[in-house]
Amino acid sequence: MSASVNEIRAFLDGWAPPATAQSYDNAGLQVGRPEAEVTRAVLALDMTPDVLSEALDMGAELIVTHHPLLFKGVKQLSPGPLVPELALRLAETGIALMSAHTNLDAAPGGVNFELARRLGLRDVTFLTGMDGALRKIVVFVPEGHARRVHRAMAEAGAGHIGHYEACAFESPGTGYFRAGPDAQPVMGEKVQDEARDELERVAEVRLEMEVASWLVPQVVKAMTEAHPYEEVAHDIYPLDRASDSAGLGAVGVLDRAEPLGAFLDRVCKALETRTVRFAGHEDQDIERVAVCGGSGSSFLAAARASGADVYVTSDVTYHTWFDLMRGDGTLPMAMVDPGHYESEYCTEELLQRRLSDAFPDISWHVTTTRTSPVKNWIGSHDLQRT
Ligand SMILES: [Zn+2]
Repeated sequence: MSASVNEIRAFLDGWAPPATAQSYDNAGLQVGRPEAEVTRAVLALDMTPDVLSEALDMGAELIVTHHPLLFKGVKQLSPGPLVPELALRLAETGIALMSAHTNLDAAPGGVNFELARRLGLRDVTFLTGMDGALRKIVVFVPEGHARRVHRAMAEAGAGHIGHYEACAFESPGTGYFRAGPDAQPVMGEKVQDEARDELERVAEVRLEMEVASWLVPQVVKAMTEAHPYEEVAHDIYPLDRASDSAGLGAVGVLDRAEPLGAFLDRVCKALETRTVRFAGHEDQDIERVAVCGGSGSSFLAAARASGADVYVTSDVTYHTWFDLMRGDGTLPMAMVDPGHYESEYCTEELLQRRLSDAFPDISWHVTTTRTSPVKNWIGSHDLQRT
């Protein structure tokens, strides 16, 4: 049994909705035909010539990466630079390529939750929720039908708040309408208003639920189908509060506190590296840990606000390390930079687990190549300044 490229994309979109990707991103199907059937696939952090060779050797029809190959504008597909040549070779060989990038960073159980799991953290939550992504849907339902509409909206994803599902509020009221000549109202009792025009009057409830913005279309569809009226009166409002259905970074705790030195060993072992850059004192206690796979310097303040003892992220620039420092030279929080590849290649096994569960008949192969071109050399001489 195989599945089409499109079915696999739909699964990834359901877990990590494209609407949660950052505006600069280009996640999704990069090369290939949506209807192509897939029996074997390669999973990699980056698209490289070695990954393509692996896919060709095993007869894979699809490659799924975290980092998109097509990210900036490509003017021509011809041999030479890495991106156009790889895109050309994918098209020539008929291998599809799709990427789940910042949308997978933002997904529950996504990249940052996997990094946290690797480091042995528990009670993991998002470091920060997603701003501008929360809506309130208000719908007016005739009495006796509210539970059915409520249930349909909840099943479509509305009403999720923290650890609670199907959260809703309802209040009673009266709905008025005047049916047009072609209307077929299902209920209503005629009343005379002051202008002597006939109005229909119905006892209704105002039902309101919160919903993530990317779920609005499916919730409105479910709500409309469950609602008895021809025309469903409803309002959708933006909420000035971050959504917790998607977020950035993650924070959790170790089973027990340990010195920073032991924590650094833990990071090296969990992320398969011999070197990490860090700021902090080897003896300071580490229990609460914030993480952000990839370039997470912009969440430094969020990591501090979370009460973390240490922040693990990568691509930390020289001056960002000073942003941590107090005027007396002390650090309110330690920081560790294991490298961009090291902080994110766990995505390959995360994708393998989730895609194998969803499509057990497809062979999901994690690349055996280290796709990062960056290596670390450990010098053996003594240092004068440590
Ligand atoms: Zn990355």
